[in-house]
Amino acid sequence: MLADYAVRVEQSRGRRHPEPTHPYRNDFQRDRDRVVHARAFRRLEAKTQVFTRRYSDHFRNRLTHTIEVAQISRTIAAQLGLNSDLVEALALVHDIGHPPFGHAGEKALDAAMRRHGFSFDHNLHALRIVEDFELRYAAFRGLNLTFEVREGIIKHSHDYDAGEHPELAEYLLELRPPLEAQLIDLTDEIAYNTADLDDGCEAHLLTIEQIAASVAIFDCCLQEVRRLYPSAPEKLQFNETLKRVFDRLVSDLISNTRARVAEAGTHSLEAIRRHPERLAAFSREVEEGRRQLKDFLYENLYFSPALEGEKEDAERIIGELFAHWMEEPEDLPRSYREKAAQVRGPQRARIWPAGVEEPLPRIICDYIAGMTDPFIYQQYEKYCGG
Ligand code: MG
Repeated sequence: MLADYAVRVEQSRGRRHPEPTHPYRNDFQRDRDRVVHARAFRRLEAKTQVFTRRYSDHFRNRLTHTIEVAQISRTIAAQLGLNSDLVEALALVHDIGHPPFGHAGEKALDAAMRRHGFSFDHNLHALRIVEDFELRYAAFRGLNLTFEVREGIIKHSHDYDAGEHPELAEYLLELRPPLEAQLIDLTDEIAYNTADLDDGCEAHLLTIEQIAASVAIFDCCLQEVRRLYPSAPEKLQFNETLKRVFDRLVSDLISNTRARVAEAGTHSLEAIRRHPERLAAFSREVEEGRRQLKDFLYENLYFSPALEGEKEDAERIIGELFAHWMEEPEDLPRSYREKAAQVRGPQRARIWPAGVEEPLPRIICDYIAGMTDPFIYQQYEKYCGG
């Protein structure tokens, strides 16, 4: 049962290249399936989320994180009467543009690009992947996804400025994205905030007491668990606590978004788009808890000395490899060398302003961004002597 403000697949703005309809899968289901079968999606399995495999082989990687985001998003979408096929496609594609080495890798790649007057942004890169890099179909480049999925890739977590990004004008930058896309940014946070506490504790970089002392929502759930299971092993008390934190975040997002939509009187997708602010949001109280949790993770985990070595690795490896290929572009694989020489055709002009040839830094950036952690280590050994 779709709510009146949900995206309806039959009202989709469609694909760039029209395709015949499928007998039993609608267009958003097909988009979801195209994402799952994409090469870039499979590579998420070997890309770092926060912890490299040096720590453990059961910590989240970018693929398992993505599956968690999809699970949470589907649950919330069903409760809010949103289009769960679209939500699932957006959740599965949301991190497809991430480079190796997690956020450290994104920063390092951006820094390398800035030395040549460019920049790197994983959402923009995700669009390039689905529009151009995935080659599966004879009739077109890319995955030929529907407008709503491409729009969600660009708009779920960031409001791009139309003046700065004229190439994104088709994505209605002056309007809010549908709730299906708004949701993804928040479910992404629920997933990684709780998962990073979990993996951080498991890695012995965080302790239960330390979290409870700084994060009120965690402390409150921990007290409840200790009353209920006073003699349970600490690890199980932790799991029960985290489960309650998780549930509070999800339940609050559902009820508060529902209340905000009702209060705003937005009874159509158009009204959601034209509303001055995003309506998917936590309540003020839980938003405060979310912020506390996030601040705690920044202060105690993401910038902890234990992860410093990995950050330095990311900077050194990406920086040196980038510099190497700038000096020796003939060491790039043939398809990338050809791209560097190729003058854009009408297909490329859509993503890159017409008349602009692909500059070498962008081609190197595309190559590095697509790599898994093991592959970039291998390349580093090969070209920079390890
Ligand atoms: Mg994510």
